[in-house]
Amino acid sequence: MTSDYPEFVHPSPAVAAFEEQPVSHDDLVCTLISEDQLHRRVAQMGADITRDYADKDPLLICILKGAVYFMTDLTRMIDCSLTMDFMAVSSYGDAHKTSGVVRIIKDLNEPVTDRHVIILEDILDTGLTLKYLARNFHGRGAASVAIATLLLKEGTQAVPLDIQYVGFTIPDAFVVGYGLDYAQHYRNLPYIGVLKPELYAD
Ligand code: 5GP
Repeated sequence: MTSDYPEFVHPSPAVAAFEEQPVSHDDLVCTLISEDQLHRRVAQMGADITRDYADKDPLLICILKGAVYFMTDLTRMIDCSLTMDFMAVSSYGDAHKTSGVVRIIKDLNEPVTDRHVIILEDILDTGLTLKYLARNFHGRGAASVAIATLLLKEGTQAVPLDIQYVGFTIPDAFVVGYGLDYAQHYRNLPYIGVLKPELYAD
């Protein structure tokens, strides 16, 4: 998909396609982001959030299931008072392309009214999921809504979106690991890799 938002730039490390990291799994084309790179970048994001939210007692909302590893690592790197909640949405099913339709599968347990919300997402592709969620939390009376996404695919955004924290900018490839799945598998890989295209049906 061509981006309608080409001026969309983030100060996040860009990961080149098929960097010279060793292939660590038979189903992967390559390892895109190593365990060490993930931990170092997530620690920096935690420091940024600590600085920005020191007195705000933010509510961090983890979007299940893909952002679970990101949330557990990130929150341990945030040194201020916060609470957490979880939401499950579906926009992909078992396919590898976005449907554009967002469905709430599990809603929040606590109200967002007057809270400074930070949405934690695994990956931003078209941006449709995060656009929907940001609007939804504003509609429920959040004091502010920020977005922290571990990955941002380059050039695939279909909607303009304000994003405050980006872990890595990556090429437009289908990635798995560190919480990201294909048909519910590969989430437990401790790094992020590009899945072999022949493994997913079109
Ligand atoms: P968007 O609404 O931004 O198009 O899609 C966001 C959701 O699509 C993510 O939360 C994730 O579930 C899924 N997604 C998008 N790209 C990828 C990818 O490369 N790998 C995996 N595993 N999921 C993806």
